[in-house]
Amino acid sequence: MQDKIDLKSLTLEELKEQITALGEKGFRAGQIYRWLHQRKVSSFDEMTDQPAAFRAQLEQRFYINRITVKKKLVSKIDGTVKYLYQLRDGNCVETVLMQYKHGASICISSQAGCRMGCQFCASTLAGLERSLTASELLDQVYMTEQDSGYKIDSIVMMGIGEPLDNYDNVVRFLRLISSPEGMNLSLRHLSLSTCGLVDRIYDLAQLKLGLTLSISLHATDDETRSKIMPVNKKYPLSDLMKACRDYFAITGRRISFEYALIEGVNDTPAQATALAKLLNHMNCHVNLIPVNPVKERAYRRSTPANVARFQQQLTRLGVNATVRRELGSDINAACGQLRRESVGKEGSI
Ligand code: SAH
Repeated sequence: MQDKIDLKSLTLEELKEQITALGEKGFRAGQIYRWLHQRKVSSFDEMTDQPAAFRAQLEQRFYINRITVKKKLVSKIDGTVKYLYQLRDGNCVETVLMQYKHGASICISSQAGCRMGCQFCASTLAGLERSLTASELLDQVYMTEQDSGYKIDSIVMMGIGEPLDNYDNVVRFLRLISSPEGMNLSLRHLSLSTCGLVDRIYDLAQLKLGLTLSISLHATDDETRSKIMPVNKKYPLSDLMKACRDYFAITGRRISFEYALIEGVNDTPAQATALAKLLNHMNCHVNLIPVNPVKERAYRRSTPANVARFQQQLTRLGVNATVRRELGSDINAACGQLRRESVGKEGSI
């Protein structure tokens, strides 16, 4: 198994090379690619337009990745579905399907665990197991479509893990999911969220992919940010904000900032003023999120009154800020907690 090639992670060009190296006609690559990425089959036997002998040859050389539903929670309030998917090696990740008026949106994980160490986040508590492959990123979308019957219109990379800490596989995923012979998703309908790996933000800018970059900001001064987000020690706010301005200059794409409001840590009126000053009339959007309490940590979410005040103050100061609508509040274990429970760190589910 180990030495077989992960077929679903290959681009169409790579697949063509592989197929012609096997002595087959190049057009078969396009057929196989569509089986995988449009019809989303999980076995070679389902590729009925391929000769049986060739299918057997493929089976020898490649494997088709498959993830399985280990657990599924459905919100009784708004139909939000939270999946715990099991990967081939037994690792698990979370994926969330949300339904909006304009269509279905999915939040996918980029790594099994995380090594960024944000203090308010459940996904990082047990560190990083490993990064996901491109096919594992794709399969969260493909499996969720199959299981739910919904056509997914937009994707957010805001689940477990740091996407830019899995840069190569994430870029490969972006190319695959937007390929015309595959799902053909416009990357305008995809948001990628990062805690602020500045070097990678510059790499991504150069690709000019058209996606929306979300920056997890959460604080307006280095002292507070370094306390709650250790990544800030390596990439302080001045570097991060410069990277954001440069990203906009290079790509023309407006940045979205996430700001999780934590009582007494980052939600004072002075901090709202500091945030407006930091953004300094930048063409951007601020998403305010009352922090989801994680039971291993003492952080509390800001009161509704403080959230409203923070938002109004930003608006007054000319910053485009909205409070994120909460979906699936009845299944709303903070992101990463379902996975943690499943691996037995906190008892069984
Ligand atoms: N590593 C990436 C993406 C995954 S986290 C990043 O940091 O952006 C997705 C978003 O959820 C980030 O903005 C993250 O800071 C936020 N988040 C993590 N834990 C949270 C919690 N307990 N409450 C609210 N937001 C949280």
